[in-house]
Amino acid sequence: MATPVNPADINPRQVANKSDKKALLDAIRMTLSVQSPAVRRNTQTFNRNRYAATALLPDYNELKDRARQIKENAIANLPELLRQLEASVRANGGHFYLAKTAADADQYIRDVLLRHEAKLVVKGKSITSEETKLNHALEAAGITVAETDLAEFILQVADEQPSHIIAPALHYSRERITALFKRKFTTDLPLDTGEELTIFAREKLRAQFIAADAGISGANLIAADSGSLMLVESEGNIRMTMTLPPLHIALAGIEKVVPSRTDFGTFIELLPRSGTGQPLTSYVSILHPPLKAPPFAAPGKAAKPREFHLVLIDNGRSSMREDPVLHEALYCIRCSACMNCCANFETVGGHAFGGETYSGGIGGSWEAGTGTLMNARFSDLCTGCSRCVTQCPVRIDIPWLNENLRQRMNSELPSSAAKSVFGAMTGSAPEDRVAPLQKQFFANYHVMASEATRFSSLSNAITGLPFVRGLMENVVGLDRRRKLPPFPKKTWQQLYREQSPGDLARTAKPDSPEVLMFADVFTNYGSPERGIAAMRVLREVGINAELSASLPDGRAAISQGMIATARRQASALAKTLLPYLERGSAVCVLEPSVLAMFRSDYEHLLDKATWEKFAHASFVEPLQAVLSFARERGTELSQIFPARECPHGTRVFYHSHCQQRSCDAAWQTIEILRSCGFDVVTSSVECCGMAGSFGYKREYYELSMAVGEDLFAQVRAAEQQGSPRTLVASGTSCHEQLWAGMGREVMHPVELLVSTLG
Ligand code: SF4
Ligand code: SF4
Repeated sequence: MATPVNPADINPRQVANKSDKKALLDAIRMTLSVQSPAVRRNTQTFNRNRYAATALLPDYNELKDRARQIKENAIANLPELLRQLEASVRANGGHFYLAKTAADADQYIRDVLLRHEAKLVVKGKSITSEETKLNHALEAAGITVAETDLAEFILQVADEQPSHIIAPALHYSRERITALFKRKFTTDLPLDTGEELTIFAREKLRAQFIAADAGISGANLIAADSGSLMLVESEGNIRMTMTLPPLHIALAGIEKVVPSRTDFGTFIELLPRSGTGQPLTSYVSILHPPLKAPPFAAPGKAAKPREFHLVLIDNGRSSMREDPVLHEALYCIRCSACMNCCANFETVGGHAFGGETYSGGIGGSWEAGTGTLMNARFSDLCTGCSRCVTQCPVRIDIPWLNENLRQRMNSELPSSAAKSVFGAMTGSAPEDRVAPLQKQFFANYHVMASEATRFSSLSNAITGLPFVRGLMENVVGLDRRRKLPPFPKKTWQQLYREQSPGDLARTAKPDSPEVLMFADVFTNYGSPERGIAAMRVLREVGINAELSASLPDGRAAISQGMIATARRQASALAKTLLPYLERGSAVCVLEPSVLAMFRSDYEHLLDKATWEKFAHASFVEPLQAVLSFARERGTELSQIFPARECPHGTRVFYHSHCQQRSCDAAWQTIEILRSCGFDVVTSSVECCGMAGSFGYKREYYELSMAVGEDLFAQVRAAEQQGSPRTLVASGTSCHEQLWAGMGREVMHPVELLVSTLG
């Protein structure tokens, strides 16, 4: 048996290529054991700063629309823009090379440098050069490459790949950098503070700048009409790289081309705010190379004439452009917002949630587009929480890209009789029956749950047996450490049918309901009392609610990459809901992940005509409906649900659901609870880490709990003073995570409100 590797001994490069699943799992262990505190601190700081900086932008949404439009047009007209750019660069006196592959780009750059007899090259931060593995190619030709970005310098010393697009060494704490420098350089300097470390690195880098024969930079954007480059940075090293040596080579992907310099402004506003939360980065350079000013000449050296080469690389981007899904990734401006707001990324960073070059939610599409599909395996860490969708300055639906990657990876797998039979029995679409048993199991949760609820006492007894948990772990990968909530005796629908009109406060009018309450499968089979409480709250304020049929909505299937199954389920459900939507009824959705399906994901699953009807219908979270109705009628909610009557006390810790926040349907709950007199502390985590089936999976259990630790810590902090707080959460997953992590009961806001009724 192989000896297990100590996670602390794994170098990130060893696990950069995630085409092997073991590499992904080792990378998760390594990052949790070594990097997590620094990654958390840095990404969460960027994230907080981004919220603050974008909140100050009065035209944030218009800027995002404009950015999206510029990128959409640029990618649509890319061949023409490339021709125009080539003409502009040549007219300016520069050289233009369009490399088909990474190897082409490296060879061209190496040849230029060898022609110039360059011995030392200084480099500004360039993720594209990571993609082409340029440093290795140049070093193999005897050319020394000096990374001049401080973070890249640290990584070069450590021989690691970047873990983040804009802060490549964000996984390093100051203490680890000190230890690294002490180990790699002979020095008596203390190097105990950030300032001492920076001075030390600057001294080394200054010597390289003075001696360099050439500078290699990337580019944030390139204007086709003028050949101008735009670069934003915080250290000034890129500007020196481009201006000091006589020879400047800029390497960038073809997707960086935009029509005109006038397009730069929108991105100058959005990039730093979306990345670090700064209104402007310290250095914004707009260059029109080759520069006219003479280059720097070291004392005793003759100044050489300037020369400029623009090397654009395709390396799979043209195929991405043709891809009906992956072409979206070409709009990415590499700001990092989607990483900093991603709970999983915040916990493990890009060495686990990333591949050889690209990382985070968007990284999978880039690895698949510029490498191979299996390199994108780490995109499995995208739970589809959707927090990044509203943060992306070019409005990329990142979870949808990842769900498609998952589907493509599923379809690469060999079929088997077990998978086919299991899929047929549980309702997977024929196309999805190659998916692993684990995925098919979670995608068809409703089938298992419906059977288990019919015989709930037996099901609960059986699933409590250790050998059954072991079997479930081995066959469908359900981690045996995860607590399973018991199946209820009766479903939501059964309880609803049994309710007397008095219990529900008012009599429903099935022929003209004011709202239709959707009986999502998670509440129907998991928390039926919660569903009844939601209807009771609605009716207490005067909203009639009728309960729908309980059908799978596709959420569980789409999250497993089983898109054909999700489409089938969405179409069947749409047929049930359409008569209500056509009558103008609002649909109340208790489970936020299902609300997000109806509001946005269904655009990908339904035919155009049906989606149009969904897009114009009203899908609301119950307390959203309550607040808007109460405001409209001038209803005092504190008189209906007085917190002082709550048997659980008035002190509450409330965690809203990730998709609830993305749907802008969380603040209403907080407002209602406070207006009723509850003392509410809210969580600020992006996601609890459970994320549907994610936290149940054997391979991701530790990560899920590590993500949850942020939430548990916030609860503990809120309870440091005063008595404990009642835990309240809006999503099924959040309940399960808090219940498992804190060992305490968790209520839904509607249950809390109902408890005040006596
Ligand atoms: S959807 Fe959620 S988990 Fe996926 S990349 Fe975006 S923030 Fe991360
Ligand atoms: S996908 Fe969007 S949020 Fe993520 S790095 Fe690209 S532009 Fe930024």
